Amino acid sequence: MRVSAAILIETIFLLIAFSIYYFTGNVFYIYNFAFIGTSVAVGVLLTQNGHRFGRNIIMLAVGSYLLIYVGIFGGENLLLSGFWYYLFLGVFEAAVIHYLIAKIAGPVIFGRGWCGYACWIAMVLDLLPYKIPTNDRKDWGYVRYVLFVVIFAFVSVLFIFKVNRLDMIMFYMFIIGNAVYYILGILLAYKLHDNRAFCKYVCPITVFLKISSYFSILRVKVNQDKCIECGKCMKICPMDVEILNDSRKRKNGTECILCLNCAKDCPKNAIKI
Ligand code: SF4
Ligand code: SF4
Repeated sequence: MRVSAAILIETIFLLIAFSIYYFTGNVFYIYNFAFIGTSVAVGVLLTQNGHRFGRNIIMLAVGSYLLIYVGIFGGENLLLSGFWYYLFLGVFEAAVIHYLIAKIAGPVIFGRGWCGYACWIAMVLDLLPYKIPTNDRKDWGYVRYVLFVVIFAFVSVLFIFKVNRLDMIMFYMFIIGNAVYYILGILLAYKLHDNRAFCKYVCPITVFLKISSYFSILRVKVNQDKCIECGKCMKICPMDVEILNDSRKRKNGTECILCLNCAKDCPKNAIKI
């Protein structure tokens, strides 16, 4: 049983949990990050050891916790709009910490583990029928940058014009934003026959994720001595990663969500993280 990646993830999250508690005195961060870290570590462990639905179960657990408990009941806007909102307020809590850990600094260690094991949008998209994309990738990646700028500009304008009840506006942005993302994600998946089409073209979070995950310590690697270049891994990859090229500059290298479908399908057991 392979445990090194899981232990690394668990250790990092526990360190984060206790460090943030030390600086903020807020016990929420201990159980929040301990729960997320343990869930992701268990998900990676199950996936590495061939459990078919391990990753989906973990993603449903973490994604639902963040969406329903922290987002809806806790009133925290964890979307990109919430990140800018809390950042402009100067509040180093909530969405700002969430983004720093899951989407800005953390991916330097665990890449896009967020997308593979915790995202509440993808937890639903991954249940749709198009797990392996059947169409060629579109040249629509610019959409994420446009959306990123629009969201930043929108929140900036709210602050510039000192709009009242920003807390309430942010809560409704979280609800409406998620509803739009779910509808768009499902429509795109059916239209393009690709469950992860939303992640590839629309999700504005990937503007952060793609930069930091380029340097990720945890990444899928191919043992060239074992590989027979049958190409099975490339065919099954939901994110069109050029797996056989070990370089960080490989095509779609910053798209890898560590789902390990490639490793599971490799007939020579040549792929590892
Ligand atoms: S790309 Fe966006 S929607 Fe897709 S899994 Fe990552 S954060 Fe979630
Ligand atoms: S390269 Fe492997 S682990 Fe990464 S997204 Fe593709 S199939 Fe999943």
